[in-house]
Amino acid sequence: MSHINYKGNHLSVEEVLVSDIADKVSTPFYCYSLQSIIDSYSKIKGVFKNFSPLICYSLKANSNLAIVKTLANLGSGADVGSEGELRKALKAGIPPNKIVFSGVGKSINEILYALESEIYQFNVESEAELNFINSIALEKNVKAPITLRVNPDVDANTHQKISTGKAKDKFGIAIQNIPALFEKSKNLNGVELFGLNVHIGSQIMDNNSFNQAFEKLFKLVELLINNGHSIKRIDLGGGIGIKNRNPNNLLDLSFLDYPDSKSLDHYGSLIEKHFSSIGCQIILEPGRAIVGTSGILISKVLYNKVNSDRVFKVIDAGMNDFARPALYDAQHSIIPVKKIDQIIKNKISIVGPVCESGDEFLTLKEFFDIPQDELIAVLSVGAYGACMSSNYNLRPLISEVLVNKNKFSLIRERQTYEDLLNRDIIPSWIGS
Ligand code: PLP
Repeated sequence: MSHINYKGNHLSVEEVLVSDIADKVSTPFYCYSLQSIIDSYSKIKGVFKNFSPLICYSLKANSNLAIVKTLANLGSGADVGSEGELRKALKAGIPPNKIVFSGVGKSINEILYALESEIYQFNVESEAELNFINSIALEKNVKAPITLRVNPDVDANTHQKISTGKAKDKFGIAIQNIPALFEKSKNLNGVELFGLNVHIGSQIMDNNSFNQAFEKLFKLVELLINNGHSIKRIDLGGGIGIKNRNPNNLLDLSFLDYPDSKSLDHYGSLIEKHFSSIGCQIILEPGRAIVGTSGILISKVLYNKVNSDRVFKVIDAGMNDFARPALYDAQHSIIPVKKIDQIIKNKISIVGPVCESGDEFLTLKEFFDIPQDELIAVLSVGAYGACMSSNYNLRPLISEVLVNKNKFSLIRERQTYEDLLNRDIIPSWIGS
């Protein structure tokens, strides 16, 4: 059962009423359920126990230290996409030998820092990057552990901005070019090639796309083994999708239990079908599936207004706090924190205060007539929420709160206006 539910008429996270948190923390703020994160991690670990993969939580989904620490304590590794995420993973106590470094544009400083930290592997995305890592490692007199990221030319059937596995995408190395790079790397003494990596996109609801990618990868592995190469690791990336809403019944929160065991079991069986015969280590990089449904965004209704034939609820959270609707047309459920019976039977848009027409969270055919000053919750925002927020419109980054049973604690303080205003520098030649 979901850890985010109504207790009577009041929304609660685990045993804590959201309104009690809002009495102490000013809106807008993110709020996460610790038990939900633990459950999702354990569910994924459990489903895949037959081939005990190394689970490398993808920090790009949510890199709050308390959350990464929770996962480190559960034994998770990390998938990082920048030096900042690598530093955060290490700070949270994730051992370097459980950290993989992904990304299409690793800089020299990032490569040096990762080599010094002795991470488990670099997922290499181009021949140029392979040569570059090789030359840096040779200079440092070390061997960089690598896998090659394959671009399998598979459609992940997700939003085009989070699709990464088609031939035209910037990610990975064209599948037909991989065998030649395996041959070449035999002569590169600064790298040790352990295997392959694939990641076709994020928020994938159709296991068929994974199946297609795995099938292509398996054929490639067979070819490489026949060519005399050994494949010790296969890193299958992340991408498992979650549900962001139940369009038929806003108050039914059971969709927050997604990804469900049935769909995970199926995903696991696809991995087993394709790769169990190879006898290599399987690595997974889930992000959204671990933290996505654990988080809600709490905001206050500032104003109700009508323009022409459109009805608006203006809330105090904006696209800078939660970018997914504006960036990916994502539709995340919005519900009242205190249930009410009154319904506006009119098309209604829930919008933020930012000076952009795109600052719109959701448009519905009807919605609860939540009065000014009352709270609403945006659901399924634990992944790609806080970590994608920005200071646009010079708005401070908002607080994050973690609930554990009947306790809650701030896990990130709201940015102050001093933090915001003290970063700029006025050159002396501008004059006073
Ligand atoms: N691995 C890589 C290389 C990624 O780019 C991403 C995100 O797109 C992930 C893992 C995590 O994906 P998700 O959060 O969809 O599981």
